Amino acid sequence: MRRVYLDHNATTPLAPEVFEAMKPYLLNGFGNASSVHAWGQEARAAVEEARESVARLLNAEPSEIVFTSGGTESDNTALFGAIEAAAARMAGRKPRLVTTAIEHPAVVNAAQALEKRGIAVTFVRPGSDGVVDPAEIDRALTPETALISVMHANNELGTLQPIEEIGRIAQDRGVPLHTDAVQSVGKVPIDVRKMGVRLLSLSAHKVNGPKGVGALYVRKGTSLRPLLYGGHHERDRRPGTENVSGIVGLGKAAELALAKGQEESVRIAALRDRLEAGILNTIPLVTVNGATSRRLPSTSNMTFAFVQGEAFVIAADLRGLGCSTGSACASGSLEPSHVLSAIGKTKEEARSTVRFSLGSTTTDEDIDYALGVIAEVAQRLRALSPLYKGESVDAYSNARLG
Ligand code: PLP
Repeated sequence: MRRVYLDHNATTPLAPEVFEAMKPYLLNGFGNASSVHAWGQEARAAVEEARESVARLLNAEPSEIVFTSGGTESDNTALFGAIEAAAARMAGRKPRLVTTAIEHPAVVNAAQALEKRGIAVTFVRPGSDGVVDPAEIDRALTPETALISVMHANNELGTLQPIEEIGRIAQDRGVPLHTDAVQSVGKVPIDVRKMGVRLLSLSAHKVNGPKGVGALYVRKGTSLRPLLYGGHHERDRRPGTENVSGIVGLGKAAELALAKGQEESVRIAALRDRLEAGILNTIPLVTVNGATSRRLPSTSNMTFAFVQGEAFVIAADLRGLGCSTGSACASGSLEPSHVLSAIGKTKEEARSTVRFSLGSTTTDEDIDYALGVIAEVAQRLRALSPLYKGESVDAYSNARLG
């Protein structure tokens, strides 16, 4: 059976070049980057080279890159680090965090943990197209606001947020801006100066790098308390012996992403558009969610009326197609996705939503195969639905939102 992986927003395959770059540091180059001897110096040189590669991808200075264990740690460091640093300066007044209702759990749950510590948090809602209005961010700011955190690309919808405009507002109002760019780095051009961000999170495994390693861009002069306490690694921003092979892998992945550039994005967007058009043209009652005019090239989020998303994912998997639902399974009970709820989807719509995300290994043949599986699975599941009446379908036409 053919297997087609369309879940690249969950994770991506390791690029062979990345694996080759990492290998020496898992074998003979095992030194501790803090050691003074030759073993240590070899590891240190590799870490610093990787730092330069990551900085180049973001248009940052190498000294502004802090290696972490991934996107979750970068997000937590940004939120707790900036808020705690501000609290120390605010002489008893409580700082405020302004974020959005569609952030990844690494930000949403960190923000809720801050709320429990008495920090005021505003969750700005996006429009029904999954895009946050910069004016809403502006309105949410108070003199106590110590951090704005708005993701660059949404992991479920793929929608790109107007970070540059929010960056200008943040700079005008003198509030640091953090962006979770875990889904956008390596897929769309990133320039931390143009974006006006002080903090930016990224993760290697979303860009054909290894799991368990990422980085936080911290603009020079940004006040940030560390999340962990230990040695003086990473300029006192993040203690712990460096994950040398992982960092080398991240560096190589950054280098590859920069070399591939926009050509690869255009190729992937064309495949995604063909997938979407193929679905919309052959399957009735399907809606594309999120602004199609400002999305990652790789992502398509679709609601298939009268199809249960979880059942779709399982049935597609049995035919070799990997995709995911828009809803997350939280502590055993199926809660509809907070992102789909925030853009106004009903529970029923959210539960009928599937995300397809393409990547560097996706081919034309993959799309042909996926289209066949998707049509067959949707039809089969609808035939089992007591609510679905085939004849009523003609009364509808497929709609595109945004
Ligand atoms: N932020 C976003 C937008 C993500 O999509 C993810 C991963 O799913 C993360 C943060 C967490 O990254 P990591 O898996 O490296 O902890």
